[in-house]
Amino acid sequence: MVNLAMPASDPIIFETHERRTDPVGEAEETPLSFEIRNLSIWYGEKRAIDGVNLDIPSNAVTSIIGPSGCGKSTFLRSLNRMHELVPRTRLEGTVLLLGKNLYASEVDPAIVRRRVGMVFQKSNPFPTMSIGENVIIGLRLNGVRDRKYLNERLEKSLRMSALWDEVKDDLHKPRTSLSGGQQQRLCIARALAVEPEVILMDEPCSALDPIATAKIEELIHELKKQYTIVIVTHNMQQAGRVSDYTAFFYLGRLIEFGQTSKIFSNPSQKQTEDYITGRFG
Ligand code: ADP
Ligand code: MG
Repeated sequence: MVNLAMPASDPIIFETHERRTDPVGEAEETPLSFEIRNLSIWYGEKRAIDGVNLDIPSNAVTSIIGPSGCGKSTFLRSLNRMHELVPRTRLEGTVLLLGKNLYASEVDPAIVRRRVGMVFQKSNPFPTMSIGENVIIGLRLNGVRDRKYLNERLEKSLRMSALWDEVKDDLHKPRTSLSGGQQQRLCIARALAVEPEVILMDEPCSALDPIATAKIEELIHELKKQYTIVIVTHNMQQAGRVSDYTAFFYLGRLIEFGQTSKIFSNPSQKQTEDYITGRFG
């Protein structure tokens, strides 16, 4: 069982590597959350990710864009070992989180998934559970029983996900009483409750209307002060609005990575330009 009172990095003995801090060749040093080296991922015989090298800066939003089937979700899920839940997957290469290899043999995937939280496209709160229970389920599954601590995390997570004022009097109600946008913020609250360091989001707004989408985008902007965020989106306007850095994937390969403003105004690669100008995808 995971002891949540311990600092996140303490219980895990990782292999350490020399760290780099310059993801896009800028002069200033940018701290990195992830350093991904020669990453390839297969489903059975099919290679979905092919030799990806990428540095993901801390306390910033990085968006992953590219046409459907190019490997965005697979790549994202490899950042918290979620892809391993699919049978017959195989991974080569390394994924370092704060300099430590998530795939080292002694690392417990359950701890990785606590440090690196995930929010999916379809809001997936547990339908029969109350709003409050939906937020603290991760803590409960980790064996936390202390009521006072659970209540503190509940309120804090709902405040951080900009939902507290809307639901504080309805915590016992089923989550199905919430709108789609509120349910998606509830999923973000649930991810925050276990105090992760990184939040991964896979098309978190694709089922939401523009107003609910704007709220999530505002929230992402707030959250990056404390968290590293990696978001998959097929909405390029959204990538432009929310992200500091953008990675363009095509056919399982990373074609280009850089500051979002540069990728969208002056990409280096023709494939990137063709994609962002709508010539394919
Ligand atoms: P994206 O999120 O960019 O649409 P995915 O990461 O979902 O792309 O998929 C990348 C490739 O891997 C696709 O060719 C897809 O068909 C394949 N793939 C994804 N999930 C599975 C799976 N569970 N089993 C087999 N192949 C898969
Ligand atoms: Mg996907």
